[in-house]
Amino acid sequence: MAQQKMKTGLARCLELASDHRGLVFLSGFLAALAAICSFAPYVSIYYIIREILMVYPDLSRLDVPAVTRWSWLALAGIFGNIVLYFFALLASHVAAFGTLYELKIAFAEHIMQMPLGYHLTIGSGKLRKIMDENIESIEQFIAHQLPDFVASLVAPLVLIVILLGVDWRYGVVCLAGIVLAFAVQLAGFNGRAREKMQRFQRAQENMNAASVEYVRGMSEIKAFNQTAASFKRLSTSIKDYTTFVLDYALGWQNAMPAFTTIIHNIYLLLIPVGIWLSARTTDMRQFALTFIFYLIIVHAISGILNKIMYISESFTQISGSVARMDEILRIPAMPEQTAPVAIETFDVRFEDVSFSYDEDGGTQALSHLSFQAAPGRVTAIVGPSGGGKSTIASLVSRFYDVSAGSIQIGGVDIRQMPLDALMAKVSFVYQDTFLFKQRIFDNIRIGNPDATEAQVVAAAKAAQCHDFIMRLPDGYDTVIGAHGVHLSGGERQRIAIARAIVKDAPIIVLDEATAFSDPENEYLIQKAFETLTADKTVIMIAHRLSTIRRADQILVMNQGKLVESGSHDALLARGGKYAEMWASYTASMHWKISTGRGM
Ligand code: ADP
Repeated sequence: MAQQKMKTGLARCLELASDHRGLVFLSGFLAALAAICSFAPYVSIYYIIREILMVYPDLSRLDVPAVTRWSWLALAGIFGNIVLYFFALLASHVAAFGTLYELKIAFAEHIMQMPLGYHLTIGSGKLRKIMDENIESIEQFIAHQLPDFVASLVAPLVLIVILLGVDWRYGVVCLAGIVLAFAVQLAGFNGRAREKMQRFQRAQENMNAASVEYVRGMSEIKAFNQTAASFKRLSTSIKDYTTFVLDYALGWQNAMPAFTTIIHNIYLLLIPVGIWLSARTTDMRQFALTFIFYLIIVHAISGILNKIMYISESFTQISGSVARMDEILRIPAMPEQTAPVAIETFDVRFEDVSFSYDEDGGTQALSHLSFQAAPGRVTAIVGPSGGGKSTIASLVSRFYDVSAGSIQIGGVDIRQMPLDALMAKVSFVYQDTFLFKQRIFDNIRIGNPDATEAQVVAAAKAAQCHDFIMRLPDGYDTVIGAHGVHLSGGERQRIAIARAIVKDAPIIVLDEATAFSDPENEYLIQKAFETLTADKTVIMIAHRLSTIRRADQILVMNQGKLVESGSHDALLARGGKYAEMWASYTASMHWKISTGRGM
């Protein structure tokens, strides 16, 4: 499994860098040469010791020029290793930055083409993390780990050749030491350690989620006096994390030190073998040469093995990064039409629409829904939470495509319209309005970038925003979010309405606000809605029945199905689900009035 993951991470990175294949290969080639060069000092030492032993004990006969030559070779090896590795990194960095650039552009283009609904479910935080951290870790991997990987493949091969080539008996002893070190380490890495690793990763994710929730929800936490409870959740997740990290680290407490001890002390295995061989040798000079050489080269082993360990860890990490990025890239792009279509009327028709958020079509959020929202009329959608109201709004704007059936505007299937043409026809006002950290003026003009100043101000007046905007320090030039300028929920929603008025689209999808129901705000928002919706096709998700009495058509949704439809009076007369909802609503209003609560 881990091996499979390692392969996919590496293979995927190579695939991503395929436009810079030449540079990647050059980098690998140079890194391999650098690794080979790093053995030159050992070879030189072998020959220098040989020169010394040949004349020993009369060192005056030492062939100094030969020793000097070998010393130069050692120096050239060290220098070559540094220079070649430098150029390997240079090539890999050029390839990595190119890949990073292309990948970020491709990712940005992909998320633009992704159905909008995914942005809501995935969340901007996660998309930002993937774009910033995960894609950048791919750049890091190509820039650093790929050349190191090639070096860590070549170095052990050269080492094995040297170890077995000079004297296979010492070579076998060294290799036995390496095998022993790995065996001891693997004994520690049993099923339990893997399970601990998974628990540790889960604990880490929980802690991250709890921290984000704590910080982002701070205002609600304070408003509802939840500080102790939510702080407890955060502190519990941190404690869990601490426990699992300790548990995981302690799981290695025997295996890891044993591994490190063995690879740093393989010479302790060589010494008894050396003593044993010395009793059986006839050529003492050759024996001394080989023995001393092995005692020196054995120290290269630990460096090489440490590098392999670090590389294999980075393989596991890169697999995770690549997988998270690919998860987003696999989301199919919204099929886009480019041919313009002429739309004459702006009625919205749902024809036998079914929709499921699961790809496998599991639970249906909407099932066989048909209705028509006529121009100049208000269609209100009511029903219990989870009934499918927001899903209807999301589908009109093609946040998602229907699973079955069709949605038409003026008789044209919305999938046949270019997305920007559809967006030009539909305005949305959501409960939660996103305001950019820009001037209020620009925040309103987003609805129609060509709007004149007069049009923006007129829209703000119609949306009941003008008065509060004029009370802000710089009026329309006030930057939202700067210098402590923050708007209330009701004010934000009125800005959203002003945006929609400036846009002047023939179809309006409204998600009525529930959170800001103080009478003053409600009155202003209602007034703003009236201007916005005059003569438009309005689809309104209604949370309070009081606001929909005047709707031309009411759709009652329950568990994704349309259970009733008609006008307020017709539905009351029918005595069904709507009448039931109305009865409990009026009862609650009486209760609120008689107890003096609410409103
Ligand atoms: P309402 O607006 O009436 O409360 P929704 O349209 O939000 O209802 O939800 C209809 C159904 O679809 C519910 O079962 C809900 O759990 C599910 N649902 C809504 N949004 C998503 C989503 N982004 N991913 C998966 N399921 C969802």
